[in-house]
Amino acid sequence: MANQNAKMNIHWFPGHMAKARREISEKIKVIDIVIELVDARAPYSSKNPMINEITKNKPRLIVLTKKDMADDRYTKQWVQYYEQCGYQAMSVNLKNFNEYQKVIEKCRHVLKEKMEKEKARGLKPRAIRAMVLGIPNVGKSTFINKLANRKATVTGNKPGVTKAQQIIRIAKDFELFDTPGVLWPKLDDEHVAKNIALLGSIKQSILPLDDLFIAAMRYLTENYPQLLKERYQLEIDLDDDNWIVETFDHIAKVRKIKPLRGETDYDRVMELFFSEINDGSIGQITWESPTCVNV
Ligand code: GDP
Repeated sequence: MANQNAKMNIHWFPGHMAKARREISEKIKVIDIVIELVDARAPYSSKNPMINEITKNKPRLIVLTKKDMADDRYTKQWVQYYEQCGYQAMSVNLKNFNEYQKVIEKCRHVLKEKMEKEKARGLKPRAIRAMVLGIPNVGKSTFINKLANRKATVTGNKPGVTKAQQIIRIAKDFELFDTPGVLWPKLDDEHVAKNIALLGSIKQSILPLDDLFIAAMRYLTENYPQLLKERYQLEIDLDDDNWIVETFDHIAKVRKIKPLRGETDYDRVMELFFSEINDGSIGQITWESPTCVNV
């Protein structure tokens, strides 16, 4: 289970950001490949805006996690998109053990040439060394803990990387830092803040909840009307001036949410909706499609 601190009492002050960058820059020197985890439900919004600068020219594998919760069509498009941008990319469901081996395989593939060159130069064969990076809640601890075969979450959700970290051997030819690099999302961008809130990775209260509810309902009506119909028997007509109030009333009725002082309990409706969005029970949803963004 996620360290709930990830949700998300971290305040990313400039000092934290500078520290995170500095610590990661140090570790970068001794690694061969960066495994950058992003959430497949919002593969742009869940990226750190400065990842290129932070990781310099290190080979990087972008891993879209939680593919089981995202829309498969978009996941494919996003993987292709990142590949077209010149990165290695793949999608995984970290609840499935086979997927871990695929990530390691891909790292081996990316570094094959480099390792062969080293061998040709007469250098002693050595293990590939990797580091996991990403914003909170994208699956970093899940990934590392599973590979390291341990249950507890390490204190990975602090800005930067913790001091007492170790390199662990996962396979004869593959090593990993046992704590991830924790980076910040670009929350000053409204589109990003909204998506990150919908992923459940920040306290939704950083945004006005009703705005988030309206934006989500609008997006779902335009992109996933079938899911709304299946989950809430809801069909929204966005041209109807009253659609917002009607949507609240409808969900309250269908899900038998008790009125509050004779009125629809809007807070309860939103709480229910957001929890069902976050845990995937409404369906596999992706909140953004690839656009010409700077990655
Ligand atoms: P971190 O903050 O980046 O270390 O994220 P965690 O490893 O704590 O993961 C956050 C939450 O996402 C946990 O509840 C995980 O079980 C869940 N999670 C991670 N990866 C996946 C995935 O591929 N699929 C699903 N369904 N859940 C995942």
